[in-house]
Amino acid sequence: EATAPAPKADILAKPSGAQVAVVTGAGSGIGRASSLKLSEAGFKIVAVDFNASTGEETLRLLREQGGEGIFVQADVSKEEDVERYVKAATDEYGRIDAFFNNAGVLQKFKLLENLEASEFDRILNVNVRGTFLGLKHVLKVMHAQGYGSIINTASTAGLRAEHSMSAYTASKHAVIGLTKAAAIEYVKKGIRVNAICPGGVDTALTQAVPTMMQESGYVPEEFPNMRIGRFADPTELAEMVVFLAGHGSSYMTGSVIAVDGGLTL
Ligand code: ADP
Repeated sequence: EATAPAPKADILAKPSGAQVAVVTGAGSGIGRASSLKLSEAGFKIVAVDFNASTGEETLRLLREQGGEGIFVQADVSKEEDVERYVKAATDEYGRIDAFFNNAGVLQKFKLLENLEASEFDRILNVNVRGTFLGLKHVLKVMHAQGYGSIINTASTAGLRAEHSMSAYTASKHAVIGLTKAAAIEYVKKGIRVNAICPGGVDTALTQAVPTMMQESGYVPEEFPNMRIGRFADPTELAEMVVFLAGHGSSYMTGSVIAVDGGLTL
């Protein structure tokens, strides 16, 4: 089902056979929901997370619904780990059609002047370095193939500032920069690179936000202000990931898509 008619434009050479998707941060939230939806859409899944138990659980859920995949434990901020998960994908399946470059971490709410440099480094290390390393090593594979679709997880904090989240805001602006940079470099090589911007998503990460805010002593005037009136279910992000991964989005590259329930209105 993940295969589609040959595209008219040269932007996406049509691969044949069963397609393969690599998903980082696959153990939770958007990454897990997207692994399951991509699997439903016919992709074989290479699930990556540094948390082995949650990553393995995603694989179990995927197999339960009739899907196929492998799990690789890896820290996306370590280059040798990134090389290892990319090699695992090509060793197992010989190709990477889609890459959901998604693993990320949220910072502690703090005024910028109180933010430790070590906390800044931790956030940038996973969100920016991890995104860069994933792009670097997956793009090598996709460049050789002549096709591929990459989806980076940015955030509404990549579009405007989130109060008391300067490192996170900077990191997600950087993810959007990397998305555009990769898109422009690879547009003629059959590879598309897009970013999604979740607002509030109902995940372990966002559930921790009220506690984190209390701990930091920061009580925002209005947060969250999902104008739609609720957090997103991770599956509502996964729908966009599946669309961007497949041929239905063949004319989209360098796009930055908010899926935020009106948060940035
Ligand atoms: P969301 O789905 O909203 O992006 P979650 O916190 O639910 O947020 O999911 C993030 C996932 O990314 C978690 O499964 C977490 O283990 C994973 N992750 C975080 N940092 C790393 C890292 N350095 N390497 C690999 N996976 C990571």
